[in-house]
Amino acid sequence: MSEFDIIQNYFANQGLNRDEVILGIGDDAAITKVATGLEQVITTDTLTSGVHFPIDTAPEAIGHKSLAVNLSDLAAMGAEPVWFTMNLSLPEYDKDWLNRFVSGLFALAAKHNICLIGGDTVKGPLSISIQAAGQLPAGSALRRSGAKTGDKIFVSGFIGDAALAFACRDGQLDISQQDLLKVNQVLNMPEARNLLGQKLRGLANSAIDISDGLSADLTHILVASGRGATIDLQKLPLSEIFLKHAEQIGGHGLALGFGDDYELCFTAPEKNVNKIIKIGQDLDCPVTVIGEVEKEPGLRFKDVYGLNISITEKGYDHFANV
Ligand code: ADP
Ligand code: MG
Repeated sequence: MSEFDIIQNYFANQGLNRDEVILGIGDDAAITKVATGLEQVITTDTLTSGVHFPIDTAPEAIGHKSLAVNLSDLAAMGAEPVWFTMNLSLPEYDKDWLNRFVSGLFALAAKHNICLIGGDTVKGPLSISIQAAGQLPAGSALRRSGAKTGDKIFVSGFIGDAALAFACRDGQLDISQQDLLKVNQVLNMPEARNLLGQKLRGLANSAIDISDGLSADLTHILVASGRGATIDLQKLPLSEIFLKHAEQIGGHGLALGFGDDYELCFTAPEKNVNKIIKIGQDLDCPVTVIGEVEKEPGLRFKDVYGLNISITEKGYDHFANV
């Protein structure tokens, strides 16, 4: 099996096309276009075996998540996904693994109507680097820097279940097989919130996706916007499964500091709250108000009794101990 055959057999036949893609896989480079009045939004993310997922993770999940983390960045900007490229480093030619990998990858690509237009395939330690492009009306992107004093702070879906799944990895936690399956699904096959992100254009003042933990990612918004905030811990959207095991894993901290949630955190003026909650309901993706943006810098927390407490969950940082 040559590199050419791998590309032909596994990547060139995704069965998806878009008007924006003039030339896809097969030439020296791809050709795309952006319609007048639109802007292109570009992101890239790498998943490496042993760092971002254990080597024995299901290949479908690796394919899915490699794309999902990029889609999530586009969602946080409010962009419609259009195309992606993929640089793949494979340790060996494994037919079964590749089939399962592309089935997870292309199932998610089809769901979001995003087209694979090129990439590179090399032999080496397992690593997947995807670059994705989206589009939106010029000037309408949701940035981290737009939060205003008095904005309500929202989170989509539930947070903390990926952290719970990770905490279960060593088998020390007392959790039912059924609950474990559910939280593993959240960790391995995250949903990207692209429809929600696009609907938030013109309603939200700032947005970010939660990859490093709510505390760290909300802090990025606050620093970029020159603002602070107080979060009401009682309002955090925690799943029934998370709450069942919260005590065993040390309370709310994991939901704030672990990450891998791939939910959206965003801020919007109070007058848009009802509209946004309705949008969440229509998309079957609940959104929850968890706090408010304030003038005074810093991130503060109110506990279940309404008292101010301090929490030092810093979020994930690859180079924190270097
Ligand atoms: P070159 O030597 O010009 O870089 P390649 O043999 O690497 O060409 O790639 C041939 C074609 O296959 C190109 O269109 C490239 O974008 C595409 N391609 C290679 N690897 C991948 C991949 N992992 N996913 C998608 N397309 C790929
Ligand atoms: Mg190449």
